[in-house]
Amino acid sequence: MAIQRTFSIIKPDATKRNLTGAIVAKFEAAGLRVVASKRIQMTLAQAQTFYGVHKERPFFGELCEFMISEPIVVQVLEGEDAIAKNREVMGATNPAEAAEGTIRKEFALSIGENSVHGSDGEDTAAEEIAYFFSGLELVG
Ligand code: ATP
Ligand code: MG
Repeated sequence: MAIQRTFSIIKPDATKRNLTGAIVAKFEAAGLRVVASKRIQMTLAQAQTFYGVHKERPFFGELCEFMISEPIVVQVLEGEDAIAKNREVMGATNPAEAAEGTIRKEFALSIGENSVHGSDGEDTAAEEIAYFFSGLELVG
């Protein structure tokens, strides 16, 4: 498997509890390198666009309100098999089902307030990186 890039969000529940460094430490321990990073606060329109794939789901409104409730940290992570590796380090969506040692097992509060987002495939990784970062912000 080649070197890949994936997109990550440290969500409002985690930034609010000052867990940014603890979460980045988990990425780094797994061999993922932070190659771009910034702290932003999304608008409602941006959150609705970003999570547009879930717009018919019953939790869509709650999810978008949560994602704009506090600043988030958006990052590009790079490494061998980075997309799958990041999802492995994140753990299952529901922290009650997440494996020991994963970010969501250790830090997530609930299935909604689950501390991190990670791209789920090569296409979404490329789209999500381009949505939040300009070419100038991405060192080759
Ligand atoms: P993400 O896309 O954030 O990386 P994921 O791929 O593990 O997480 P998805 O199924 O894509 O999970 O859901 C997107 C997000 O929507 C979840 O991370 C969570 O914050 C929220 N979510 C998912 N299912 C529920 C639910 N049943 N109730 C409340 N919120 C939910
Ligand atoms: Mg997802």
